[in-house]
Amino acid sequence: MPENLRVVVVGAGLGGLALAQGLRRSGIDVAVYEREESPTSRLQGYRLRLTPEGLDVLERLLPPPLSQLVWETSSSPSRAAFLSGQTEPAVDRNVAVNRLTLRQILLHGLDDVVEFGRECTGYRANGDKTVTALFADGSHATGDVLVAADGVNSVIRRQYLPKAHVMDTGVRILYGRFPLTPEAAELIPEEMFTLYSGITGPDRQHVGIAPVHSRRPAKEAAAQHAPALELTSTDDYVMCLFGARTEMLPFTDEELRKATGKQLRDTAVAMTREWNPAVSALVELTNTETLFPIFMRSSVPFPQWPTTAVTLIGDAIHAMSPAVGVGANIALRDADTLAARLIDVKRGTELIPALRAYETAMIDYGFDAVRTSAHYGRLRLGQSPLPE
Ligand SMILES: Cc1cc2nc3c(=O)[nH]c(=O)nc-3n(C[C@H](O)[C@H](O)[C@H](O)COP(=O)(O)OP(=O)(O)OC[C@H]3O[C@@H](n4cnc5c(N)ncnc54)[C@H](O)[C@@H]3O)c2cc1C
Repeated sequence: MPENLRVVVVGAGLGGLALAQGLRRSGIDVAVYEREESPTSRLQGYRLRLTPEGLDVLERLLPPPLSQLVWETSSSPSRAAFLSGQTEPAVDRNVAVNRLTLRQILLHGLDDVVEFGRECTGYRANGDKTVTALFADGSHATGDVLVAADGVNSVIRRQYLPKAHVMDTGVRILYGRFPLTPEAAELIPEEMFTLYSGITGPDRQHVGIAPVHSRRPAKEAAAQHAPALELTSTDDYVMCLFGARTEMLPFTDEELRKATGKQLRDTAVAMTREWNPAVSALVELTNTETLFPIFMRSSVPFPQWPTTAVTLIGDAIHAMSPAVGVGANIALRDADTLAARLIDVKRGTELIPALRAYETAMIDYGFDAVRTSAHYGRLRLGQSPLPE
């Protein structure tokens, strides 16, 4: 066992940051390298559902004030609670969170751990001793373990597991939001004021509506639990997405990448014009500057590989259709499971068997979630099936 275990993580998304928090809490030396220049330099999405298991993981990995902050800035929306201004809606541990707020909470206290503007281009194994992550600026970082937390396009996975395949599901999502003003809330029918309403139209075209309403003013909660934390964007909003198979959209993929927010909204509005007027009215509210396209992809499960000091968490190994809304929760579970095994190493367990135990568990529940998500993605969004 290495005397002072050092863990190098590539990617400061939800999985990488949760892992770093957990290791930090356990006194394990960890460094995270992120390609983006800052936490807000790229839109990473708007809203996430956290399951009770996801919340439990955050309670284990984060210092108590930060997990309390996650809870207080999450929403379990009910129309009655929103309209009456109640701050304590019923306790339901399936919640929605503002993605940027969650990421900022996960980053808190990690100033000396996370480095931005460090794009990983690959890695080098140093015999069976250490692993070195290589960066675009010519620099490098060496650890006893290298964790790929670099998302669906993982450069580490491409080098390490070149046969791992990520497939195009054939579904494209036009993803945006609008502010949850009292006027907008009035337009949302009672039955759509829940965690997420999925409305399926012709040919499995799909509209998703999801209010994100912090149960307590986020800045006020941050001032109490983490006074040094400046949250960027805390206004309540409604996530609104339109999904359809690529062949139904009036764009090639190339055109879709370049389309303006207005073109995306006009397309979603035109394609839902004949739907229930309550649905098309909400699509029409979407702010054009918030809209961007998502090309929905899925990992294809494959058998376990020989374990080394390079391992993977989250979308880097098991990206999945968002049809069930569990990808981030599974990334958090990976962070928790891997942190527990690395704590075992700190206490004397051999490194490679510990990583093997993590990967055996992760492959089982992770690929299981990929298959379940693909199944519901087919039913709800008409996505292409996973290959046999
Ligand atoms: C429309 C949509 C809705 C979703 N809704 C939900 C939901 O409600 N609930 C849920 O559980 N999941 C949801 N998901 C899935 C969820 O977003 C992902 O599973 C989750 O973000 C994965 O986290 P991650 O940390 O593995 O990867 P990411 O969040 O993708 O983070 C990867 C990080 O690595 C960085 N990076 C990438 N390449 C490099 C490099 N070369 N060098 C350095 N850094 C790099 C990236 O910039 C990024 O910060 C949804 C997904 C989509 C598309």
